[in-house]
Amino acid sequence: MSSSPLVQIRQTLADPGLQSAIYSSTGRLVEKRRQAISEGDPAEFERWREQAHQIKRHTLENLDYYLELLEKRLTARGVQVVWAKDGGEVADFILRLAREKNARLIVKSKSMTTEEINLTERLEEAGIEAVETDLGEYIVQLAGERPSHIVAPALHKTRYQIGDLFHERLGVERETVPEKQTLIARRTLREKFLAADIGITGANFLVAEAGLAVVVENEGNARLSSSLPRVHIVIAGIEKVIPRTADLAIFLKLLGRSATGQPLTVYTSLLGGPRRPGETDGPEEVHLVLLDNGRTRVLADRAKRQSLYCIRCGACLNHCPVYRKIGGHSYPWVYSGPIGAIITPQFHGILEQGWLPYASSLCGACAEVCPVKIDIPQILLDLRWETVKAKVREDTNRLERWAFGVWAWVMCRPRIYELASLMSSAITTSEGDGWLKSVPALFNLGPIRNWLSQRDLPPPPAKTFRQLWRERAGGGAR
Ligand code: SF4
Repeated sequence: MSSSPLVQIRQTLADPGLQSAIYSSTGRLVEKRRQAISEGDPAEFERWREQAHQIKRHTLENLDYYLELLEKRLTARGVQVVWAKDGGEVADFILRLAREKNARLIVKSKSMTTEEINLTERLEEAGIEAVETDLGEYIVQLAGERPSHIVAPALHKTRYQIGDLFHERLGVERETVPEKQTLIARRTLREKFLAADIGITGANFLVAEAGLAVVVENEGNARLSSSLPRVHIVIAGIEKVIPRTADLAIFLKLLGRSATGQPLTVYTSLLGGPRRPGETDGPEEVHLVLLDNGRTRVLADRAKRQSLYCIRCGACLNHCPVYRKIGGHSYPWVYSGPIGAIITPQFHGILEQGWLPYASSLCGACAEVCPVKIDIPQILLDLRWETVKAKVREDTNRLERWAFGVWAWVMCRPRIYELASLMSSAITTSEGDGWLKSVPALFNLGPIRNWLSQRDLPPPPAKTFRQLWRERAGGGAR
């Protein structure tokens, strides 16, 4: 693990206010999801999940076909489709276009993909103002932070912190009522929308057959970003494509319920191209940037390919006991929680991020709630195996190998095993829970002390299995 996630994890664990903000916000989202599903037909929800899994599997197995179909349909409607290998190519394209259009101000909305490639930094380095317009994204941009949650980027902030932030950065009165804070942001952002030269959005789905980019949101800012400026750029990962509009219905129902507990999000925009003759609004130019950035590498691995099924609903984060303790900023990349733990090592290399698959209790809650049924625990195990093979965490591997070597040696020698069992019973002089902690000299050693800081073993029984067996068998059996 690099030092910065470790430092961040320690800071988060030591901050009760932050712990409470993360825990209560994710708890609310968990409860909303539960209600939304139980108000409908839970069995039907399960059928949608299975259908979505099969649609994603089929699409990714035929990704080249569907991407080319999408390109053909969009090009026919006047959309320029750009293929980008990585973030550098995306930034180069946008900067070229911005120079051509003499653009100074860009409004952005609904794009984790642009966060993934640090697009805002590249634009600002080139002297272009890039403003996030989702309320949560706007808050973290003002704070100079990155999103801490896929769906709720400012989930880690309290309304009092937001009041202070608006006061410092926008020069307004300190306001702690969320509705009033929203109005402050709205006033500021309206001016940005009206003055923007280019709007950038992500896409939740790309429908190949219909040639559509689909954006779902609750605030209306993605709709403004895509229709007010003269130029609209959609930036999306190549895995966002789905075959047909009929498939979209299933994904929209799953996404709303899984992300925010809504049957459907407030706005669903189906974007098919620039303004046509006779239409009164919409952009004059539309560009779709299809980003690879490591996705084809993941696609090539048949077992872990399902990591690309993700529709970024955030449900696995909300249900993850690790994410709920350490928060999104403790993860090294913009994707956090269980989905971050499986895609970050695959995108950035197992050698660099091999510690992430270990940041899980393997409780399986993520797989139970994932709307596209990604088997996250199995992928975590596969990645752990790869990590071991790649000899990452060399020190820990040595310690583990030594411990398992001793254990195997003892287990192969019945008399020594029995002696060890008797000794462990003998040293547990205190009764009840916490017996390990009552043997300070032996168990206060580095790694064991850390382990014991979060858990304990139940005390062993007074008699060993062998003693009981001998007693029951009348002393004859060994
Ligand atoms: S992995 Fe599944 S649960 Fe997690 S964000 Fe992606 S779609 Fe949602």
